[in-house]
Amino acid sequence: MFIIKVAIDGPAGAGKSSIAKAVAEKTGFVYIDTGAMYRAVALYTILHKLPTSGDELEKAIDKIKIDIEYNEKGQVLILCGEDVTSRIREADVSIVASDVATVPAVRLKLVDIQRRLAENHSVIMDGRDIGTYVLPDAEVKIFLTASVEERAKRRFMQLKENGETEDIEKIKKDIAYRDKNDSERKFAPLRQAEDAIYIDTSDMTMQKVIEKIYKIIREAQ
Ligand code: C5P
Repeated sequence: MFIIKVAIDGPAGAGKSSIAKAVAEKTGFVYIDTGAMYRAVALYTILHKLPTSGDELEKAIDKIKIDIEYNEKGQVLILCGEDVTSRIREADVSIVASDVATVPAVRLKLVDIQRRLAENHSVIMDGRDIGTYVLPDAEVKIFLTASVEERAKRRFMQLKENGETEDIEKIKKDIAYRDKNDSERKFAPLRQAEDAIYIDTSDMTMQKVIEKIYKIIREAQ
């Protein structure tokens, strides 16, 4: 069977994970959420009171054990033997994740896991550097984005659904901080791959975006 790799990149809150998950369900491809891995490293630094860069973090990298499993809800993130799938979604982890993501040694470790997960079957992988660095030969590359206002609004609703409340202006500030961190870092920054299809989802329903990407994948098969 012909294997297809789909890379979905874009800034925080563009809807990548919900959309990638839905498209994966429709196509039967395996969904790989790479942001969860950076979040797991961030959580490790929080739990072990480690700095987010420098020698102390680099020395600890081999101790950070990340395993990916799947259940009926999707990807399960196991950090040093513990299921942290829900914990890594909490707001405190997001900012730290974009800090540890600037460290090349962290990225190299996680990229290795990501490439191994994508071997031998069709996948939809979302992140920041999938089309440019992790899977440069992906058959389909999508760059998904939306205005900061729209992304902040969506994050607000997502947090609300999980029973959390956060000031919208604070969310906007956090998103802007992460955008800057992600696009200005030296190693594998957030960037649209030359052969990626650009989709601005600001005025699109999620269903419309899912249909559009599904059609692009079908055409590539
Ligand atoms: O996508 P998500 O918001 O869960 O990602 C958390 C953080 O991990 C991002 O803000 C980004 O800094 C980092 N990340 C990355 N490269 C990826 C995926 C995520 O740098 N491929």
